[in-house]
Amino acid sequence: MHPKIIEDYQCCGVDVRKIVGTMIRHAPKGCLDGLDTVEILDSSPGGKGFACYHKESRRIHLFVRNLIAWQPWLLRKSVVFPYLTIGLALGHEIDHHVNRDNEEVEKEVHAEAKALDYIFPFFLIVKPIKKLVTYLRKKD
Ligand SMILES: [Zn+2]
Repeated sequence: MHPKIIEDYQCCGVDVRKIVGTMIRHAPKGCLDGLDTVEILDSSPGGKGFACYHKESRRIHLFVRNLIAWQPWLLRKSVVFPYLTIGLALGHEIDHHVNRDNEEVEKEVHAEAKALDYIFPFFLIVKPIKKLVTYLRKKD
């Protein structure tokens, strides 16, 4: 079962709903189990932070203004860059969800390290770049 996606944001000319939907459809099996909702909101109540996870209600909040507004127009339009920033934030919070009852891990360190593991389509974009870099390295 996939979490519901709720959107309530006006900022900033990026279709965050579409990006989040793609990420959720391709997330590794099991990591979203029990997650109730991903809420895409304009900004956080305190104006700080990119995202947060609410353990009691099993919700992830993403704050679009904090994630996207600082990015120059060209970066926003690049698709890859919004994908990366949203992916890092969403993946971080998915890790908090996965490890919500795991007392063994240092939660923030773990979430930082694992964020992109949950964001499969991101690697579809990055893979050809990685291959090219590997190829160029072999040539010298
Ligand atoms: Zn965190």
